[in-house]
Amino acid sequence: MTSKQVKPPAGAVRTAAGAVRPVSGVRMTGGLLHDWRRRNSTATIPHTIEQLRAAGNVANLSRLLEPDPAPYRGRYPFLDTDLYKTLEGLAYDLGDGVAAEPVREFYEEVVGLLERVQAPDGYLNSFFQDPAAAKKPWEDPGWGHELYNLGHLIQAAVAAHRRMGDDRLLRVAVRFADLVVSRFGEAGVCGHPEVEMALVELYRETGERGYLTQAARFVDRRGTGALRHTIFSGDYFQDHLPFRELPSVTGHAVRMGYLAAGAADVLLETGDPSLAGALERLWDDMVATKLYITGGLGSRHSDEAIGDRYELPSERAYSETCAAIAVMQWAWRMFLATGGAKYVDVFERVLHNAYAVGLSAEGTAFFYDNPLQRRPDHEQRSGAESGGEPLRRAWFGCPCCPPNIVRWMAQLADYVAAERDGAVLVAAYTTARIEASELGLAMETGYPWDGDVRLTVERAPREPYELVLRVPGWARDVTVTVNGEPPEAAARDGWITLRRAWSAGDEVRLSLPMPVRAHGSHPYLDATRGAVALARGPLVYCVEQQDSPVPVDDLVLGVADIVNANIERRDGTVVLRVAAGAARPPSAELYPELPLEETSPRVEVTATFTPYFLWGNRGPQAMRVWVRTPATNGKKAT
Ligand SMILES: [Zn+2]
Repeated sequence: MTSKQVKPPAGAVRTAAGAVRPVSGVRMTGGLLHDWRRRNSTATIPHTIEQLRAAGNVANLSRLLEPDPAPYRGRYPFLDTDLYKTLEGLAYDLGDGVAAEPVREFYEEVVGLLERVQAPDGYLNSFFQDPAAAKKPWEDPGWGHELYNLGHLIQAAVAAHRRMGDDRLLRVAVRFADLVVSRFGEAGVCGHPEVEMALVELYRETGERGYLTQAARFVDRRGTGALRHTIFSGDYFQDHLPFRELPSVTGHAVRMGYLAAGAADVLLETGDPSLAGALERLWDDMVATKLYITGGLGSRHSDEAIGDRYELPSERAYSETCAAIAVMQWAWRMFLATGGAKYVDVFERVLHNAYAVGLSAEGTAFFYDNPLQRRPDHEQRSGAESGGEPLRRAWFGCPCCPPNIVRWMAQLADYVAAERDGAVLVAAYTTARIEASELGLAMETGYPWDGDVRLTVERAPREPYELVLRVPGWARDVTVTVNGEPPEAAARDGWITLRRAWSAGDEVRLSLPMPVRAHGSHPYLDATRGAVALARGPLVYCVEQQDSPVPVDDLVLGVADIVNANIERRDGTVVLRVAAGAARPPSAELYPELPLEETSPRVEVTATFTPYFLWGNRGPQAMRVWVRTPATNGKKAT
């Protein structure tokens, strides 16, 4: 057993080949993302700790210290990861001093257990360490999830080290990682990618290049069909083709997203052009053909799979909350690698829609899958993880999503800004203090409810310096001023660059107008062809039955209805009041012969559209993101 020297926590994380690097010195002080973070600390984390105790995740560890251990609780061999993901979130709260005392007690208890339960050779997994377990360690690479477990342990350990200066978990993680490097030096991969991202982070934190080498091996080694499972085929594991030869994102959505994010982490350190090419190609194909308008990934409940190109049904969308996090992880790493604004656009879309919808307004109930439509007579009361009654659930038998939400909410401030030598880039707009290496900024905004952003320079370098502001892909007619005057600015590729000699007190105002937008679908996307979805700023909207005087299935939106929509503030959010049409189907037949002319009369009604991420907080009723248009009102489709 070796336990390498662990360095003290570093400042901003630098990568060898990234175009930009993250700014870790961001503190959110107000606005929606700040509210989410606070809700995470006050509601979601205490709830999650309670659920982890009740479900046996903690007892699964402590029982191993008994001479005759009680049976493992739960069906899956990866339940330790729910502790790890929670610890990762707690590290942010403890490091920032916003955690309550019971949170510290939980953290101390679990870290202490992990130190004591870890096997002498470094192995750690409460399912397989049970002498009575049905399988032995390393026996089942396809389904064992042992390296997936290690990955989440490492991520928690790195967070604790970076945010709290606590190296106890890092020592545990290093011991397990060293065992894995020695065991998997020549061959083998894990059925669930995750360790790739984590090993690169461990390399960044310890300086041990062997971890990076091993991460690259795991990416390169995949695709031989070596992973076996009685139910799932090779593509489920992304093991049917080498990563660089995948024609499209495929298989299990979370596995695919984690693998791509891990490959992007390897790229950030190696600059491998073949990896860059594959990642960019897969990304562009995914965005063009496989993402829901909410940013959700994965259209099939079967195998939790991504599905074919343009296979994007609304009511059967799987769009797992963990897959939303996977896409954000991938997006952020691609942004760091390239500086490309298009990756941040997708990050933002996922964050405000496919991810945020996974948590209830109170912060104590979760969606596992995130459909874009609920039928009025929807029935799914048993068996499935969610989608039945109640809509969101307190916990799941496979509870991967809730603690994943916890850790992500805790670290949202890490995704606000980035920098490179001579420039700071503002990627996300939220009320915050940004402490980059050379520039300190105070940002104030009502985003995403309005698009006015005020940035005040608090600390400036002597030399001319670039303040680079992201222009979201949806934004038009954007204006910017510096100290009230139109500045010399370069607008290119989704960024506005302001280069000047800054002084403390300089004020930048950015205006991102937010009219209501109407979105259609690609003609190949059969499920929503001819329908319209409303959006404003980064938010996708939906209509719930409570807010429509007619069945939401009968609502019909024309162009004029959308242009004239009223934008109204209500209960801390912005809703859209839309004068719409209502039209019963012209025939009850499932497949009527099409009339050659428009005949259906339209009845005028008013409906209210609310942000999609807030749906399902007022009881289970019908909901739609995609609404009929006159073209689909029994008339011949064009
Ligand atoms: Zn999940």
